[in-house]
Amino acid sequence: MIKALKVCMITSRLSRFRRTDGHRRLYDLKAWKMLRRQIFVRDMWTCQWPGCGVMLAQPKRDEPLPPNAATAHHKRDHKGDIDLFLDPDNLMAVCKQCHDRSIQEATHRGFIAGHDEDGRPIDPAHPWARSGALGAS
Ligand SMILES: [Zn+2]
Repeated sequence: MIKALKVCMITSRLSRFRRTDGHRRLYDLKAWKMLRRQIFVRDMWTCQWPGCGVMLAQPKRDEPLPPNAATAHHKRDHKGDIDLFLDPDNLMAVCKQCHDRSIQEATHRGFIAGHDEDGRPIDPAHPWARSGALGAS
């Protein structure tokens, strides 16, 4: 039992490493770099994280990233899926601070907390949205 668990943990670690390694290459794509910029323009260089709204800064080369550095966040973890990775509807402009703090937690939780002005979850993967509790509209 313990032996099986250990093997499972090692396999899991390896697959995570491979996945991460594969993901990195996606961020080098020219299509990604262009799309990323489009997302910042679409979102008016403003952090879209609920309750934040800071103006985003374009990071300068060879300088440490400021807390409001523009970051393109994938709402749903793309897990290396190129279609999800390059889906504009799956992207939102956020500041580095929100990304590092709240969003990474949300990604591990499986959904983004927060709602729009109508009180509906901003993330379709939120349990409230998935349960059909809000009714179909
Ligand atoms: Zn923010």
